[in-house]
Amino acid sequence: INNFWNPVINIGNFYNSLITATAYLERIFETLDEQPEVKDAPGAFALPPIKGDVQFDDVSFRYDADSPMTLKHVSFHAEPGQTIALVGPTGAGKSTIINLLSRFYNVTQGAVLIDGVDISRVTIESLRAQMGVMQQDTFIFSGDILDNIRYGKLDATEEEVIAAAKVARADDFIRQLKDGYHTTVQERGVTLSAGQRQLIAFARTLLADPRILILDEATAAIDSQTEILLQEGLQHLLAGRTSFIVAHRLSTIRAADQILVVNDGQIVEAGTHQELLAKHGEYFQLYESQYKMLEE
Ligand code: ATP
Repeated sequence: INNFWNPVINIGNFYNSLITATAYLERIFETLDEQPEVKDAPGAFALPPIKGDVQFDDVSFRYDADSPMTLKHVSFHAEPGQTIALVGPTGAGKSTIINLLSRFYNVTQGAVLIDGVDISRVTIESLRAQMGVMQQDTFIFSGDILDNIRYGKLDATEEEVIAAAKVARADDFIRQLKDGYHTTVQERGVTLSAGQRQLIAFARTLLADPRILILDEATAAIDSQTEILLQEGLQHLLAGRTSFIVAHRLSTIRAADQILVVNDGQIVEAGTHQELLAKHGEYFQLYESQYKMLEE
């Protein structure tokens, strides 16, 4: 591992989060039992440090050459720092949009641009180094809490880890554990709840500090006290990053700068919560059938 990463790490701190992104992605591929099929194009260059402007320019995509398009003419533009919520029925293509942004796959037609650069031309490492991917279920390894958070930035000091945990709202529950930040978790130690694992993931990602954040929002039932912490932690996590959330919580969707309503591989509506409600279209239907009752 050292030999493999050394040339990259030497370039500087900018690549710190690369290790995180890679570890997450390995984890994802393990879960999917699937090998990454995307390789660097000949002459690929490193993506310079980005601001986080993301554009899908008429993107169509199919998973296999002989199957129909899963995404059809998808276009949208996210300004640096914006929060984008992806909503729509199961199988609509939300995860596929995320898969193309993190370049698990190359687009079939059109282009994905980050800060105006076509991501098919840059090295995969340099792209993912600037992206944080948070899955529904957080990967916690056997070790102490400190190391589990430090996974976001391997050379972080204990003070940096604790500072990140505080901002992420994870500090309180950690201090209540037997040995605080030195408590062993997983196989040989304490088992964390789904909400606590998420708070750890928030702290880890804050430490990695990616410009683009991809979040598959957990649907797991979480107690209401942890839920409040998660909402607060999430707000801090989103600040100053371009974030794409496959969103399940109404509070997240309402707060988004843009909601992209995906259906049958297309973006059928885009706008803020208020704008889309006023349209009385698909989002309105979705809201009436799934979310409105939560507000009453
Ligand atoms: P959900 O809310 O259930 O996660 P989604 O909106 O994220 O759904 P996608 O996972 O993007 O939808 O799936 C879009 C379509 O692409 C579906 O028909 C799905 O079966 C198909 N699909 C997803 N992943 C693959 C894959 N690896 N190979 C082939 N087809 C796939």
